[in-house]
Amino acid sequence: MPFVRVALDVPIPHLFDYKDDLATDQTIGCRVVVPFGRKRLVGVVVEIDDTTELSEQRIRSVEAVLHDLPPLPKAWIDFCRFAADYYQRPLGEVIHAALPPRLRKPEPLDPPPALLALTSEGRTLLDAIPARDRAKRRVLESLLAGPLPEDVLAVQAEVPRASVVRMIASGSIESVAAETVTPSFIAAHPLNDEQATAADTIAGTAGFGVYLLLGITGSGKTEVYFHAIARALAKGQQALVLVPEIGLTPVLEAAFRNRFPGANLAVQHSGLAEGERARAFRSSHEGTAHILLGTRLAVLTPMPRLGIVVVDEEQDSSFKQQDGFRYSARDLAVVRAQRACVPVVLSSATPSLETYRHALDGRYRMLRLGRRAHGSATLPTVKMIDTRESPAKDGLSPLLEKAIAERLARGEQSLVFLNRRGYAPSLLCNSCGWVGDCNRCSSHLVVHLKEKTLRCHHCGYSIAIPRACPHCGNVDLAPVGRGTQRLEAALAERFPNANIVRVDSDSTGGRPADILVRAAQADILVGTQILAKGHHFARVTLVGVVNADAGLFAADYRAAERLFAQLAQVAGRSGRADLAGEVMVQTRFPQHPLYQALLSHDYENFAHSLLAEREQAGFPPYLFEAALRADAPEMAESIAFLKQAASVAPDAPGMTVFEPVPQTLERLSGRDRAQLVVQSASRQNLQRFLRKWRTTLEAQRLNARVRWHFDVDPIEF
Ligand code: ADP
Ligand code: ZN
Ligand code: ZN
Repeated sequence: MPFVRVALDVPIPHLFDYKDDLATDQTIGCRVVVPFGRKRLVGVVVEIDDTTELSEQRIRSVEAVLHDLPPLPKAWIDFCRFAADYYQRPLGEVIHAALPPRLRKPEPLDPPPALLALTSEGRTLLDAIPARDRAKRRVLESLLAGPLPEDVLAVQAEVPRASVVRMIASGSIESVAAETVTPSFIAAHPLNDEQATAADTIAGTAGFGVYLLLGITGSGKTEVYFHAIARALAKGQQALVLVPEIGLTPVLEAAFRNRFPGANLAVQHSGLAEGERARAFRSSHEGTAHILLGTRLAVLTPMPRLGIVVVDEEQDSSFKQQDGFRYSARDLAVVRAQRACVPVVLSSATPSLETYRHALDGRYRMLRLGRRAHGSATLPTVKMIDTRESPAKDGLSPLLEKAIAERLARGEQSLVFLNRRGYAPSLLCNSCGWVGDCNRCSSHLVVHLKEKTLRCHHCGYSIAIPRACPHCGNVDLAPVGRGTQRLEAALAERFPNANIVRVDSDSTGGRPADILVRAAQADILVGTQILAKGHHFARVTLVGVVNADAGLFAADYRAAERLFAQLAQVAGRSGRADLAGEVMVQTRFPQHPLYQALLSHDYENFAHSLLAEREQAGFPPYLFEAALRADAPEMAESIAFLKQAASVAPDAPGMTVFEPVPQTLERLSGRDRAQLVVQSASRQNLQRFLRKWRTTLEAQRLNARVRWHFDVDPIEF
C-alpha cells in the first residue's frame, strides 16, 4: 500500500497524496516530512491507500517519517475530523492547530529527559548528609514528594545538571519509568455535604455524562473537581483541565502541584516556551502525564487514558477561538468526553445560557453549591450608588471614595474595577473635533499616558501622542473617557499614601506571577477583568465597580449575559475569607434588572428571564447560528461577495438566511468586514446546509481581494 494521505497546514481544503513504499497501518498518525512546492512541510498521515488519483508524474515521495513519538491515535484523528467538519475547516488546519509549534518543524524531537527518583540509599543518605553538603541535600529533598524530570530537578534544586548526573552515578538517585509513578492527593478540607454529593456523583459516573457544577463564587467548586480528579487518577486515568486565561494557570498550577504530590502535571498554553509545550504534548500523548492543565488549545491534545474533563469558568469567551480554526473548546470538551465515555464537568457561578438551558432540560446534570465553603465566609452585600444623586468626580463617587478611605484606615484592601485599559479611550481636539482614529480599523486610538502613545487595541498600531492637533494645529488636546491608568492616577491623587497597584494586560505583560505578589500587598487594586479571574486576595473587603453601564445597552444580544458574569465574578473577589465583603456599583440605572439580580446574587432568576427573552426573539440557545464572514479592502466588495454567496445558498428547509451587514468593528487592519448570519432550529440541518454551501463557495472563482470564512456558533458579531 504505497500511498499515504497527508493532512498539511495549507489553505487548501483537502488532503495530499504522497508515495511511501514502506508505509503500513502503523504509519497512520505519524508526522512526515514532505515536499510541497519548493518547501518542506510537516504533515500528519491520516490514511493509507494502494491507489491515488494523482498521475505517476505528479506524485512525490515522503522524505522522512518521524518516529520520535508513538503514532497519533486513530480516535484522535477522528476527533479532529469531527471538529474540522463541524467548524467547516480543512482537517490539516485542525490537526496543525493541535500540534505545538515544535512538532510542526521537520526535525525529530529530542528524547525526553530521564525521570529521576530517590533510591533507598538516597533516603538513608538524606538523614546522614553533612550540613555543609547543601546542594546534595536540596536535590534529595526535591525528590521527596515524588520523581522529577532531570532538568526540572536541576532547576528546582538550583544545581548544575552535571551534579545531578554525578548523583545518579553514586546511586542515591535513579531514573525510573514514568508508568511506575503513582500520584497521591492531599484533601485540604473535609468536603461539606453539597460538595461531597457533587464529587461522589461525578466520580461515580459510568461512562459519559455532562455536569454543570453551579456554585456561587467561593463555594468550593475547585475542591469538588480536585476530589473527582483524585478518584480518576487513583484508577490510573488522566485528567484534562481547561482554564480560560494564561493568567490563571500559574495560580492553579501551584494548587495542583501542592495537592497532587507526585503527579506528572503537564501544562499547555500559548505563553510557554516551545520545548515545554512539546514536552507537555508528548507526556499527555504517551500517557505519562496524569493531569493536563491548559487553555483552550489543550482540548486538542491526545490523551490515551482520559478519565475526566473539567472546564473551569465554562462561560468564559476565551474558550472560543476567534480566528483561523474557530472552535469552542468548551463544546469540544463535551464531544471529547463523549467519545472517550467519561464525565465532563462544566464549572461556573454564572454559566453560559447554552449550558444552563441544557441543565434545566436534563441533558446535563445540575450540581448546585449554594453557600460559601470557607468557614464563616458569606456573600458580600451589594449596593448600588446612583451617580445621578451622588455624581462621580474623576470616576469616583463620594460614597465609593469614603468606603475606600475606611478600608485604608482598617488596613483592608479595596479593588476598583474598570474594564477598560489605557488612560482614556480617545483623544479629542477641543477646537475642531478631531479624534485620534486608527487608520486601519474603525476604532479610536486609546491614550496610554505612561507610554506616551496612542494605541489601537484591535490591530496594535501605535504612534506617539501628537503635541498638537494634526488637523488644525490646536494644542488643546484632551483625553476623553476613562481607562485604568487614569483611574489609577485619580486614586493616587486622592490617597497619596496608599500603595496602589494596577493589574491589566498592559501591566502584566511579562510575568503574571510577579504582579500577583505585588497585588497581594496593595492597599488599592485597580484593574480590568484579569483581576477578577480566580485570584484570591484574602484582605479584599471592598469591590468598587466604575462605569459598568456601558455594557447594559450594547447591540450584541449576549452583552447582558456577559456583563452579569463579569460583575458577579468581580463581586466574588470580596469577603472570601473571614472578613465580610461589600460591593459598590456606580450606575445611573440602579433599577436595571441586571443590577437587581446582582444585588440579590440571583443568577438563576436572571438567567431564566434572559432565556425567555432569547426564546421570544429567536436567538441561541433556542436556535443554532453560523456566520459567513467576508473581508476585503472595500466594504462594497465584502457585501457584494456575501450577496452573491446568498444567491447560491443551497435550498434547505427551515433555514433563515439574513441580509449581509457590516460587522460591529467594520474595519480591521485595513480590511472592511461584513457578515451574513444563518439560523436554523436544527443543528443537523444547519450542518448539512453549511457543508453544501461551503462546497459551492469553494468551487467558485472569486474576486481575489475577498477572503471569507464560516464561524459556527459565533459569539461575537
Ligand atoms: P470556587 O472555585 O467555587 O470559587 P474555591 O474552590 O476556590 O471556590 O474555594 C473557596 C475557598 O474555600 C478556598 O479558600 C477553599 O480552600 C475553601 N474551601 C473549599 N472547600 C472547603 C471546605 N469544605 N471547607 C472549608 N474550606 C473550603
Ligand atoms: Zn483640531
Ligand atoms: Zn487598528
